[in-house]
Amino acid sequence: MIHFTCDGCQRPINLEEELRYVVRVEVYAAFDGEESHDSDRDHLQEIEDILEALDELDDQECEEEVFQQVRYDLCGDCRKKFLRNPLGRLSTGRVGFSNN
Ligand SMILES: [Zn+2]
Repeated sequence: MIHFTCDGCQRPINLEEELRYVVRVEVYAAFDGEESHDSDRDHLQEIEDILEALDELDDQECEEEVFQQVRYDLCGDCRKKFLRNPLGRLSTGRVGFSNN
């Protein structure tokens, strides 16, 4: 049996009692100037093209600059917390927007 641990609270997720949620975050550079003229091309294809173009540089760091994908397993509680605050802004002590 596969065991999952919540990446939010480090708690083991008991799949017999609760749901496991997967968060996938894709961060990629937006090349606005490269706006494709044919709408058939999807984002993945564009990213592949960009990575191919960078291939000659043979630079792993450079590829990470262009495209990164992160995956998290979350329990139900952490899923709610994540959706309320996807960018983790509360953890910096800034709650909401102030009036000044
Ligand atoms: Zn959790």
